[in-house]
Amino acid sequence: MDKGVWVFIEQRDGEVQKVSLELLGKGRQLADQLETKVTALIMGDNVASKAQELIYCGADEVIIAEDPLLKIYMTEPYTKVMSELIEEKNPDIVLIGASSIGRDLAPRVSARVYTGLTADCTSLEIDEETKSLLMTRPAFGGNIMATIICPDHRPQMSTVRPGVMVEMEMDTTRKGEIVKVKPKLSNDDINIEILEIVKEKKQKVKIEEAGVLISGGRGLGKAEGFESLKLLATELGGLVSGSRAVVDAGWLDRDYQVGQTGKTVRPEVYFACGISGAIQHVAGMEESEFIIAINKNPEAPIFEVADVGVVGDVNKVIPALIEELKTLKD
Ligand code: FAD
Repeated sequence: MDKGVWVFIEQRDGEVQKVSLELLGKGRQLADQLETKVTALIMGDNVASKAQELIYCGADEVIIAEDPLLKIYMTEPYTKVMSELIEEKNPDIVLIGASSIGRDLAPRVSARVYTGLTADCTSLEIDEETKSLLMTRPAFGGNIMATIICPDHRPQMSTVRPGVMVEMEMDTTRKGEIVKVKPKLSNDDINIEILEIVKEKKQKVKIEEAGVLISGGRGLGKAEGFESLKLLATELGGLVSGSRAVVDAGWLDRDYQVGQTGKTVRPEVYFACGISGAIQHVAGMEESEFIIAINKNPEAPIFEVADVGVVGDVNKVIPALIEELKTLKD
């Protein structure tokens, strides 16, 4: 049996998605602990040119499944090819990004190969004793973190949200094996026809990729409170984001929400402005490198995860900070 850790490499228009590189980084760590190899599985049409980059980013082996029918993601052909490869090669672990494609593909593959799937994991570790994969995710509305194992079936499958794991630094001296497989696909495997792809016009903001995030909560008092956060973001070259409370209040678009039901972020600096620090919010930002919290309540839970805490009125502290930054620049 081949075993090993597999990472599904999601490509769109031939571009490898960031979440897949993050999972390669995590897959590398897990494989090193298990003393096994990391395999990157990429499906598509004319995607072979991506193989070398995947090796530089942590893969020991790249399986390329190319077919014109795999050019654009479709549930059935992707599920068929991936399930058959898993059944043939028996990986121990399979990691998939919890993107819209991954969320569609992973449960189908897991059902077809008759194993379990832990969705939306926030942490993946190896049990020292049993060598099982410990898959941790928020449960019961985020009130507890549940660690799930899959002891009786293989592979152990997990999806992980974008931004949770960290990419390995690219190492161009890494060597690996590239294996091409010919998928057994015919038009009978296609149960839908894609007539047209209409791309969303709106330029989606990627708060997951910002180095600095200025996040606002209900403590701002009103939607206009975000104006000074935007000014601070401009000063620091960052983006604004927020808690679910401000999204629900209509002060901020859902694309900017941080937390369990929003985005997971890990910027270099995260400002939590008038945010209480509910567990569901903290789950999405606690891995930030440096956290600055501003809250008028010294008992606010956000201070438990903050590196620097300012007890004060956010609507006074932020303008004062902007002034100070401007003075430093002059
Ligand atoms: P509040 O909890 O109301 O906190 C406001 C804070 O501002 C307080 O700490 C207060 O002391 C402070 N404050 C008030 N006035 C000022 C001032 N003038 N200056 C400084 N500080 C001030 N939440 C998320 O954020 N993201 C999620 O993804 C998410 N997912 C959820 C999923 C589920 C299943 C559930 C049940 C909840 C989820 N929540 C999520 C909601 C979460 O539980 C909290 O309700 C929410 O995070 C609270 O937002 P907040 O901190 O902005 O508001």
